[in-house]
Amino acid sequence: MSSTHDVESHLTLVRQRIANAEVAAGRSPGSVQLLAVSKTKPAADIAAAHDAGQRAFGENYLGEAIEKMEQLSDRECQWHYIGAIQSNKTRPIAAHFDWVHCVDRDKIATRLNDHRAAAAEPLNVCIQVNIDREPSKAGATPEECSALATLISGLPRLRLRGLMAIPLATDDTARQRQSTAALKRIFDSLKADHPSLDTLSIGMSGDLEAAVAEGSTMVRIGTAVFGARAPKQH
Ligand SMILES: *Cc1c(COP(=O)(O)O)cnc(C)c1O
Repeated sequence: MSSTHDVESHLTLVRQRIANAEVAAGRSPGSVQLLAVSKTKPAADIAAAHDAGQRAFGENYLGEAIEKMEQLSDRECQWHYIGAIQSNKTRPIAAHFDWVHCVDRDKIATRLNDHRAAAAEPLNVCIQVNIDREPSKAGATPEECSALATLISGLPRLRLRGLMAIPLATDDTARQRQSTAALKRIFDSLKADHPSLDTLSIGMSGDLEAAVAEGSTMVRIGTAVFGARAPKQH
């Protein structure tokens, strides 16, 4: 577990990295949001980040996430589901989260819509795109995005916000930028028909500068905020 002080100082560094990347790209200050990815980390670490002003948290594992939400129920947090979605988990996901980043097929979108309570705000969703066409990765193909966006836009309990991708892992900055640029092109082409789109969810601890340079509006940062994760068995 990180100490409270570590989380706070790491958050300061990550905010500075984002601010520097915004300036380098000629983008407005504050145009990139930080989603703090707290998977495998204890509620105390989230509380420390919350004390330091962070409100948006990303979680990948449902059971663990719900447990932490309960522990932190007296704090106002915005919860983002960024893990793989099995169709038998759409009900608890729709019940507990404010955002879902990894909608990649009609069935998941329809089920999330059906399970979102009428009294709740519509669920914010991003379409996950397999931007580098990796066989091992989830995500809609670039060609599937338009039809899926149209379907989601017609579902009243969902609000289509944008696109999300987990690009191929590489240290090559030019290659990292290509992935975000490709995602941004799809985003721009969808935006004509879907003016509500405002979110490009891409960029992690190792590639946030490249992602911001090419138009990311939300970076999902785990390690650089909360420290390295122990490997998790599932
Ligand atoms: C774990 C995870 C992250 C954060 O990755 P770091 O390299 O630790 O910053 C971002 N997005 C998704 C989808 C993740 O699963």
